[in-house]
Amino acid sequence: MDLFHYSGGVLLAEGVDVERIAAQAGTPAYIYSKGTFEDHLAKIQAAYRELDPMICFSVKACGNLHVLKVMAERGSGFDIVSGGELYRVLQVGGDPAKIVYAGVGKTDDEIIEAIRAGIGYFNIESEQELENLIRLAERHAAGDETMLKAALRVNPDVDYRSHAYLETGKRETKFGVDIERAVSVFDKYGGGSTVRLCAIHVHLGTGGKTIDPFVDAVKKILPLVDRLREKGHTVEALDLGGGYGADYETETVPSAEQYAAGLVPLLRGKGLRLILEPGKSICANAAILLTRVLYTKQGGSKKFVIVDAGMNDLIRPSLYGAFHFIWPARVDARFVPTARNKDLHMGGGEVVDIVGPICEGADFLAKDRCIPPVQRGDLMAVFGAGAYGFTMSSNYNARGRATEILVEGDSFRVIRRRETYEDMVALER
Ligand SMILES: *Cc1c(COP(=O)(O)O)cnc(C)c1O
Repeated sequence: MDLFHYSGGVLLAEGVDVERIAAQAGTPAYIYSKGTFEDHLAKIQAAYRELDPMICFSVKACGNLHVLKVMAERGSGFDIVSGGELYRVLQVGGDPAKIVYAGVGKTDDEIIEAIRAGIGYFNIESEQELENLIRLAERHAAGDETMLKAALRVNPDVDYRSHAYLETGKRETKFGVDIERAVSVFDKYGGGSTVRLCAIHVHLGTGGKTIDPFVDAVKKILPLVDRLREKGHTVEALDLGGGYGADYETETVPSAEQYAAGLVPLLRGKGLRLILEPGKSICANAAILLTRVLYTKQGGSKKFVIVDAGMNDLIRPSLYGAFHFIWPARVDARFVPTARNKDLHMGGGEVVDIVGPICEGADFLAKDRCIPPVQRGDLMAVFGAGAYGFTMSSNYNARGRATEILVEGDSFRVIRRRETYEDMVALER
């Protein structure tokens, strides 16, 4: 569910006509719906309520300060993967105790910043990293009440069934340690006095569409928890990571309630605090990327629609063939889309490639897509653009990054102004 819909053939973001936003703020523009963020977070909070979960929104999916602020105000914690993301969360007054920090390559500086901030859990990806954390904690931790907590990232070796670049829970990835090694890591470091290794973290990947891999992972982790406890180790929390499906196509992934229905019964009564790190499932559908048609042209048998947003604005289609539903912002009544699906063919539509202005063959937003006829000057909406959209954007081809807009009800405001040429060269002066 999200709050972008057509009314009288015009696309609205909550109560705002997106043409009005384009007229004021220009294109390309990321347009976020505050209500959608809140709704998605609330549904996850409600679905897992009986386990008193700590929900840590994944900052790398969508890290604008104003978005993080909305999440923090609604009780969300944060999943971070860098010192820069820690800085962002602290800037908006996010509760440090509700921060979990993952990443295979944390630098000393980043670790020290996180120690000083007093974050909730360091999600440890290797023994060397844990040794380094202990070494740094001995020097930099403030006092004895600030015992640091760590979760060991375990690799459950389950098949997450996503794009190869997006799987992180298999044995052959760089993430975490194998389940068999986990016991010896706890034996060696579990009783630490500066860093308390007292939780398990898993993160299977992103872009999955089913519950099974999560169920499989929990079924592999629970026996590990039992073994660790039998050996006298404390395991207080289980962090199940992120990777819950986002509805890029209408109703093709489980809802938060459906994930919870599969997972809560397995975890009930286990004495484990549940931590979740949702990114996409909260923010993907909370934004569109609004773009304007610059030209249309025929190339061989193909028709191209050239728009003003390119792979520097939204790299997901080029990087891993991601699907985004794309549709004109104003349509005749007969073209109001009935669902946001790959194979939505409507009589009178035409099959086109939607491409950007970047000098790369890989610069496309969609291929062989049936859309209503469009012409130069029309606005188009790229749906499901809220996750790994702006955060993965770049200045390639010396293009300023898009502006970001936050809609709330009938009003909207700029939450990041469009980059200017001067912004782009300022650091080279
Ligand atoms: C990227 C990431 C997430 C978020 O994944 P989504 O698919 O966006 O939910 C959560 N945890 C970790 C450790 C990550 O790297």
